[in-house]
Amino acid sequence: MTRITLVQGDITRQSVDAIVNAANSSLLGGGGVDGAVHRRGGPAVLAECRKLRASRFGKGLPTGQAVVTTAGDLDARWVIHTVGPVYSTSEDRSGLLASCYRESLKRADELGARTVAFPAVSTGIYGWPMDDGARIAVTTVREADTAVEEVRFVLFDERAHEAFARQLP
Ligand code: ADP
Repeated sequence: MTRITLVQGDITRQSVDAIVNAANSSLLGGGGVDGAVHRRGGPAVLAECRKLRASRFGKGLPTGQAVVTTAGDLDARWVIHTVGPVYSTSEDRSGLLASCYRESLKRADELGARTVAFPAVSTGIYGWPMDDGARIAVTTVREADTAVEEVRFVLFDERAHEAFARQLP
């Protein structure tokens, strides 16, 4: 059984096996979680991201997928980069958002990671409504078949923390 825990704070301050980054498809950094991960992870993370762009992901990492790099200077062994969908009112992209969590947990299982920290993927710059993002995150992790022992959702502010708390018993 995977334990789901909630923490309010900065995901780059967590001590876990793997930190999930809400990346963009370029893998070369951006704002929000992505900016913070690269700032605190340092040049080793960016160097591996560049290598991925030069090899397997020449066109970038597709939405809903997840890929692993070193965690550099972060207090973790790995960063799992996943690309959330941009929220749309005309198209249901929930499947892609669920895929981010599912694929990230698959990478975690391949690595043997036991503790994994997730941000609220897509709920920042990509505009996903927080309550719905929380529902998809918690439901998907609950239903996942994974050996990860703790999934820690790290929520930046009180509003996000409350939205996730409403999804838990
Ligand atoms: P996306 O582009 O997938 O929307 P963002 O990084 O813009 O990703 O935001 C995802 C969520 O993470 C938002 O709820 C945002 O408030 C939150 N966030 C931003 N920075 C951090 C951080 N350092 N630690 C944890 N959560 C963060």
